[in-house]
Amino acid sequence: MAHGKSQFAVWRCTKCNTPIKTTAYNKQNNETITKELKKFCKKCRAHVPAKRKDAKKSS
Ligand SMILES: [Zn+2]
Repeated sequence: MAHGKSQFAVWRCTKCNTPIKTTAYNKQNNETITKELKKFCKKCRAHVPAKRKDAKKSS
């Protein structure tokens, strides 16, 4: 497996901007990944739309 092609995505609550989850994904599959998901935010204590923000893994 080649390294350096995976990226990290941070899911942030659209209401309070709290990072909910961090996921890693393959950059090549980028277009198949949704950019918004409903996730549970601990701070809001509710399911809220979370937006994905890409973050490159620092090498
Ligand atoms: Zn929230």
